[in-house]
Amino acid sequence: MKHACPRCQELTISGLAKRWSDRACPAKCANCGCLSHVLASTSGGIGAGTFLALVASMVAAAGLMSYLVAVSGACLAFAFNMWAWKRAMLVPIPKENMDAARTVGWFLAGVYALLALFGN
Ligand SMILES: [Zn+2]
Repeated sequence: MKHACPRCQELTISGLAKRWSDRACPAKCANCGCLSHVLASTSGGIGAGTFLALVASMVAAAGLMSYLVAVSGACLAFAFNMWAWKRAMLVPIPKENMDAARTVGWFLAGVYALLALFGN
């Protein structure tokens, strides 16, 4: 399953690359070199929706004492996850933004390391 590059519309982005893409590590188009990623709000929303569907089906399964409800609920949550990722928009990102996101990431890692060292 390949996804269309937001710039050249060629199907060059793999499903996995799309799933793991974020600001600091965007998916790269093999055709035009365009960097793109799925917005954090989108990927976070999909994760939350899948989690809620799983929890709801587990609660329903426990209430009805039926493992069939649990299984079909898990299938529904999985189907929702696949469908939502398929629909998720890839947003082009300039290389400078990626570098900036990486710098912020390293900066935060440094701050956390300092806190861990001197926080006690
Ligand atoms: Zn492209």
